[in-house]
Amino acid sequence: MRLLTAILLASLGAAQPARAALPISAVAEPARPFALGDVVLLDSPFKAAMERNADYLLSIEPDRLLHNTRLYAGLTPKGELYGGWESGGIAGHTLGHYLTAISQQYAATGDARFKKRIDYIISEMAACQQAYGDGYIGALPPTELATLRAFREGKVEVLTPFVFKSGAWVPWYSEHKVLNGLKDAWILGGSDQARLVTLRMADWVDSVTAGLTPAQLQEMLRVEQGGMMDVLVEIYSLTGNPRYLATARRFYHNAVLDPLLEGRDELVGKHANTQIPKVIGAARTYEVTGDPRGRAIAENFWDLVVHHYSYAIGGDSDDEHFYPEDSMSSHLDTNTAETCNTYNMLKLTQHLFCWDPGTDTADFYERALYNHILASQDPRKGMFTYFMSLKPGMFRTYSTPFDTFWCCVGTGMENHTKYGGAIYYHGVDDLYVNLFIPSVLTWGEQGFGLEQDTDYPRGDQTRLTVTRAPANELALKVRCPGWAAGPVTFDLNGRSFPNAGTPGTYGVIRRVWKAGDVLTVTIPMAVRTEALPGAPAKVAFIYGPVVLAGDLGPPPQGATIPYAQNQYANAGEAAPPVPVLVLGDGPAESSVVRSRDGSLIFRTSGMGRPTDVTLRPFWEISFNRYSVYWDIVTENQWRGLGSQEPSGF
Ligand SMILES: [Zn+2]
Repeated sequence: MRLLTAILLASLGAAQPARAALPISAVAEPARPFALGDVVLLDSPFKAAMERNADYLLSIEPDRLLHNTRLYAGLTPKGELYGGWESGGIAGHTLGHYLTAISQQYAATGDARFKKRIDYIISEMAACQQAYGDGYIGALPPTELATLRAFREGKVEVLTPFVFKSGAWVPWYSEHKVLNGLKDAWILGGSDQARLVTLRMADWVDSVTAGLTPAQLQEMLRVEQGGMMDVLVEIYSLTGNPRYLATARRFYHNAVLDPLLEGRDELVGKHANTQIPKVIGAARTYEVTGDPRGRAIAENFWDLVVHHYSYAIGGDSDDEHFYPEDSMSSHLDTNTAETCNTYNMLKLTQHLFCWDPGTDTADFYERALYNHILASQDPRKGMFTYFMSLKPGMFRTYSTPFDTFWCCVGTGMENHTKYGGAIYYHGVDDLYVNLFIPSVLTWGEQGFGLEQDTDYPRGDQTRLTVTRAPANELALKVRCPGWAAGPVTFDLNGRSFPNAGTPGTYGVIRRVWKAGDVLTVTIPMAVRTEALPGAPAKVAFIYGPVVLAGDLGPPPQGATIPYAQNQYANAGEAAPPVPVLVLGDGPAESSVVRSRDGSLIFRTSGMGRPTDVTLRPFWEISFNRYSVYWDIVTENQWRGLGSQEPSGF
């Protein structure tokens, strides 16, 4: 969660303050997110996901996550080491994600159980930092830590994009999670001790990188480093200490960011999730320093990924890499759409929205939130997907509670704690309603309160009730999604507004609001098709914000289905043939019929071969086989395929 800027540049005026106002902000953003505590979720799939995730967070034992931190600091561990990635070279990344997740959960709910954990973990980390002696804190195994410390002697030797010659596996990546978690424990978790630990660790990062030449730094950056630039810029923003900005700039990776600045697409073949945090760092640098290059990099990258490398669910990548747009149809695989990527793309999208509030960014946020992030959580135990398979006929594989700890478990822990952070945004006297998720907003600065009640997207209306209002005028700006099937209409206290909202704009209602005012917004929805980039005959069906997927029945039985320690455990499972759809006289979407009971269940009507298909929201098909994309063929083409065995669903 990005921090709110304390003041706008415009309000600095001519008089120079003796010290910079903190957090530092150099650009006036027309929209800013609310603090997590300003928004309370009401009943919805998002609230249920948040509660399920909270239970999982509470089932984690801090002493076990701290095992390596104590061990390598020379102290006796107090808990047994967790399995999976926590017992490998990337150990410790979970501790950082966990600190962020419990800090966000605490900020959102005020639940003291999370505060207690924050304070305990930070006190343990402070003791370990003391024991390490040079300011370092983390859980890196000896090889990884020695590799970072050797930077002081100018020793930077890279083997692959993930490994140094020493054998160290992405040590900066892991340390970014730790530093970010500490910073969140400080800012969101209200831990003063975390501030001290954070700054000592940031000093340590400075100390090991300060002597590296520009060429050595660029060599170092060939290995994945997570969001090191982003978190250090943030620490600069929070402290005003320019040394942290200088340290952040050492993580500016020219080979990736320069082409983006120049508008060149060199993403094909690159590891996707390695790059997104670098771009977020550039975005944050723009906000804090005013350097327009960071904004250009972010906007160019976002446009490329969203419009040329993303699937209908808002996710991207196959086997974690970007592939050319015209080859995406051959990349509907088991290992598509790493969940971390979408976690990071949503972070980036929030930055872009705040600079230039518009429905293109807000629509993408909604799409990826419903169809990837919400879908990534197992509704039984709150476990997490790594890849979101888009191979027709495949199914999801989730983590195990204590023996997995993939990257996507770490980002997943965070995902479900911050749904409240993107529903509303505000300017000085305007309020953006971006997502139609049941919630209560308290806008303290304006003395304004709002309750949103809706069964969207099952229903097409949302009801915004003003619970508290100031005497001055405020503008409510309601997103009219670009996908809306017609003008978005507004009804205030039972009276229709003459002007409807054009899809792809914001409907603006500026007035002096009164407690008890009720604004009802109707957003027309219809089924539409969306082709896979570069493959016009492969389409997904979407209803409003909801990607519909064919429910293709139960998966096979197996020890690793649906929970696996290894993210590739089920990658070799065969997928049965999936029906194809034969185009009739009208467009394909005209043959998709909604269930009469008002649920979000649809069925193809007469165009499925060999059988019609039941379609449900993708996020709900948590355990069955499914398909998102369908081949649209002619009757003759289907006959040519006629040797296919009916697949039995
Ligand atoms: Zn991941």
